[in-house]
Amino acid sequence: MQAPSLGGVSVPRGNGTTVVRLRQGSSLNDFADKIDANPAALVTVLFHLGEMATATQSLDEDTFGALGVELGYVIEMVSAEEEDRELLGAFDIDLEAEEAGESDEDQLPRPPVVTVMGHVDHGKTKLLDAIRKSDVVAGEHGGITQHIGAYQIHHEHEGVDRAITFIDTPGHEAFTAMRARGADVTDIAILVVAADDGVMPQTVEAVNHAQAAGVPIVVAVNKIDVDGANPAKVRQQLTEYNLVAEEYGGDTMFVDVAAKPGIGIDDLVEAVLLTADASLDLRANPNKDARGVAIEANLDRGRGAVATVLVQSGTLEVGDAIVAGTAHGRVRAMIDEHGDTVDVATPARPVQVTGLTSVPSAGDTFLVAPDDRTARQIAEKRQAAERAALLAKRRKRISLEDFDAELKKGKVESLNLILKGDVSGAVEALEDALLKIDVGDEVELRVIHRGVGAITQNDVNLATVDSAVILGFNVKYGERVEELADREGVDVKFYSVIYQAIDDIEAALKGMLKPEYEEVQLGTAEIREIFRSSKFGNIAGSIVRSGEIRRNSKARVLRAGTVVGDNLTIESLKRFKDDATEVREGFECGIGLGTFNNITEGDIIETWEMREIPRT
Ligand code: GDP
Repeated sequence: MQAPSLGGVSVPRGNGTTVVRLRQGSSLNDFADKIDANPAALVTVLFHLGEMATATQSLDEDTFGALGVELGYVIEMVSAEEEDRELLGAFDIDLEAEEAGESDEDQLPRPPVVTVMGHVDHGKTKLLDAIRKSDVVAGEHGGITQHIGAYQIHHEHEGVDRAITFIDTPGHEAFTAMRARGADVTDIAILVVAADDGVMPQTVEAVNHAQAAGVPIVVAVNKIDVDGANPAKVRQQLTEYNLVAEEYGGDTMFVDVAAKPGIGIDDLVEAVLLTADASLDLRANPNKDARGVAIEANLDRGRGAVATVLVQSGTLEVGDAIVAGTAHGRVRAMIDEHGDTVDVATPARPVQVTGLTSVPSAGDTFLVAPDDRTARQIAEKRQAAERAALLAKRRKRISLEDFDAELKKGKVESLNLILKGDVSGAVEALEDALLKIDVGDEVELRVIHRGVGAITQNDVNLATVDSAVILGFNVKYGERVEELADREGVDVKFYSVIYQAIDDIEAALKGMLKPEYEEVQLGTAEIREIFRSSKFGNIAGSIVRSGEIRRNSKARVLRAGTVVGDNLTIESLKRFKDDATEVREGFECGIGLGTFNNITEGDIIETWEMREIPRT
């Protein structure tokens, strides 16, 4: 159905329920394609809705939504995951159908994957070391291990040899970064709490993250060898967070350990296995092409792109064609945490893989493709999708500089900030000073997160979700965080002087205020004589009575104190025969008001302009 729309352009309309699916990062061209419309017509409709965009520019979901409502379409933006599912579907790869088609017998028990979390200095790194040393297999290698991002140990449990995989990056940053990318690799979390320090802010954060992910927690009460250690207090404190020890009638296992001297490590590993067996049924089908997650990756000078992948199902073999995120390649070699080469990797086994043509990101999923060509094509399609999504994001995120424009569009009414500093005193001082900036009630400054230390992936992830700007005071980016901020289009500003930060924020906030305008009179002229010209219309032979008359300025005509014509423009201005840009008080001139011809001798032409009232 064709119907006239705003601005008189013709666009095929939906009936209000017609669904149009658009990829993230789509442009008006893409939309026009789907509804068989002229892209230029959509540009016009959008313009009438108050937004300017070119036909090829990527637009965000809100903009498409508004356009959809106007034209009678329900716009569905396809999520990145969905899009990827469809992308794989085009290559006949359907991971969901694959799993659904597997029978119970296909699913064999697999080792649990464990992440160690907790407050800084409570002993996460030491504990990971101690657990690695406790491995019966590691002993055979003289205890020499390599950091590849994850390791597996073996432990005899009730007479059976059991494997457990540990993610070798302590802390919840890696955990949340992976979850933010949709990769849930962790089955069980070990929460480390120092018995001499008790529950601390990051302890609580770790609990929240694990509970949000539905991951069971085993509590390692560490440093019990230290004077002043109070393991009972830790148990009592954690009841507040729904972690009630078994000995108090709850169902969370608490194990007292000392990571440094290596006390209680076997009991902790035992508790992990008991918890896994009691609350999780961990199985996977090893007899198919491997699927999993990249947990760490970097560029090695000698070996090229190396990535540690965790196999989640299937079996990875040397020679397999793989795609990991936007990287692809053929598995040239695999090594384990002892530096030994391995030919196959089964579920829950981490291996370091060489042979990829580029470096994937931590949290990227990987899969084995039927052949090299398919692997390459999937990677290329993903790269294209990523580029498109990136362009859309770039436009959406806020930077201090484009704040003003966003506010004028009515898109933001508060400036969200994340503050990071080298010492807590500085962060507090900065926050205090920032919150004292007075810009009236129209805009609001919100500090949504503050902390001490480098700018982390967590900060960037948070800024992404809440469209916040990150301010770093005497701190730098953490490892690989700059890349992430860049990719996500998050604005990060660094300062070493508090006043500079305050000045910038104040300027941004003032820019956010909607400008107020006032009319300023520029000059008046009295009409002495009318010259009629067929070519230029009527020309008012005038004398400037006050101020000055400028070409192109706004004008009105007054007759005996009454306005007879308003919102006119001084379209031509002449001194004798010559064009003039301005004519000052006391001089004569010829004024042309375009098509407005209703003028007579004695009329006053008044010129004016709108000026922004400066903020004080
Ligand atoms: P992380 O920040 O949580 O990774 O903590 P670390 O593993 O780096 O440990 C922080 C500090 O606590 C280091 O100086 C460790 O040597 C010390 N530490 C860790 N575990 C123990 C323990 O069981 N007993 C004692 N006495 N010190 C420990």
